[in-house]
Amino acid sequence: MTVTVPVNSDHVQKLESTQNETLNLLNSTQLIIKEAVQKLGYNDEMYELLKEPVRILTVRIPVRMDNGSIKVFTGYRSQHNDAVGPTKGGVRFHPEVNEEEVKALSIWMSLKCGITNLPYGGGKGGIICDPRNMSFGELERLSRGYVRAISQIVGPAKDIPAPDVYTNSQIMAWMMDEYSRLREFDSPGFITGKPIVLGGSQGRETATARGVTVCIEEAVKKKGMDLQGARIVVQGFGNAGSFLAKFMHDAGAKVIGISDAHGALYDPEGLDIDYLLERRDSFGTVTNLFTNVITNQELLEKECDILVPAAISNQITAQNAHRIKASIVVEAANGPTTLEATKTLDERGVLLVPDILASSGGVTVSYFEWVQNNQGYYWSEEEVAEKLRKVMVDSFETIYQTSQARQVDMRLAAYMVGIRKTAEASRFRGWV
Ligand code: GLU
Repeated sequence: MTVTVPVNSDHVQKLESTQNETLNLLNSTQLIIKEAVQKLGYNDEMYELLKEPVRILTVRIPVRMDNGSIKVFTGYRSQHNDAVGPTKGGVRFHPEVNEEEVKALSIWMSLKCGITNLPYGGGKGGIICDPRNMSFGELERLSRGYVRAISQIVGPAKDIPAPDVYTNSQIMAWMMDEYSRLREFDSPGFITGKPIVLGGSQGRETATARGVTVCIEEAVKKKGMDLQGARIVVQGFGNAGSFLAKFMHDAGAKVIGISDAHGALYDPEGLDIDYLLERRDSFGTVTNLFTNVITNQELLEKECDILVPAAISNQITAQNAHRIKASIVVEAANGPTTLEATKTLDERGVLLVPDILASSGGVTVSYFEWVQNNQGYYWSEEEVAEKLRKVMVDSFETIYQTSQARQVDMRLAAYMVGIRKTAEASRFRGWV
């Protein structure tokens, strides 16, 4: 039996399609880290430490498939830097997972944790597989096998996994159970993004979209605009994109465009978001029900006030950056805007809220989940939402002020704020 895995990940992005593009992801991250480290006044040795993860483990996981055969999967766990505290970050299941990308994503997790001031370094994991073509039983055996394979380097005080692309709370539950069995005591703090009954946090599922919402509200204020009636285009209708469209709609903004992997819908009068949410399948597909569909690329260039790329990487590039009409771009996806496009948008006066800030709501509520697990005391949804809002508002403001004071774009400012804590902790520990 083949089951559909609900897309319950923080990012609805697909992975980079070629090894080359992926190398660019790591290379471009390293370029900005270098600039940020220099601007912060650190020497080259600090850059040497921070440009790569301190540890990456590659594992081979034999799994008995439903037809009786054994398939051996390859998985990774990358730990960028653990000077601040245990490393933290999701595990993705995807056919295009590869080592370079997992490395880059673990660096991004250090940046996100630095920006939101969480007591963590960055980590990331991945398994090369296609969960869309695997049964429930196969996925369970793969998830458990992965935890056994990486068990020596993970743990509530070492490295704490979470959901990411094509992984969800069920997968977190199997992983938590496997880890608890290995250690012979219940270990909810080993992993976040769990079902509520197993120690998951209220508000974790909507956390990324809530974080993006706060960034939009703050960006709108900076631009002297009004969210009421603002025209919003959201590219991507997965976990982040769909909840975001709903929150924006409920806040009185006009969501005039949405898209999925197959195409986009655009209506300057506003879309019926509740209807679209109802009809969307577990992978976020909804445009297949319509005939008046435009392409994703066309959608990005449509007239609007706020554009939220919440889908895949490399969407706003040197080719189309000058045609983007929005005055605010908030990156809910990982890496939707290339470095060149970032420059063009900045020169054109577009306020760009970078991914490592805008999408950090997920890991922030993961931290709250871990704190609740460690305390054994659970918070209400309102409490979680209020604490998340405060973290996001403060993070936005710090990055905005840094960008103004240092005369740098918001992306470089976010890298400067994000890497500072890791650099400081590494220095105090005497590593550099
Ligand atoms: N996978 C998410 C991210 O990349 C969440 C990580 C976490 O919750 O630890 O931000």
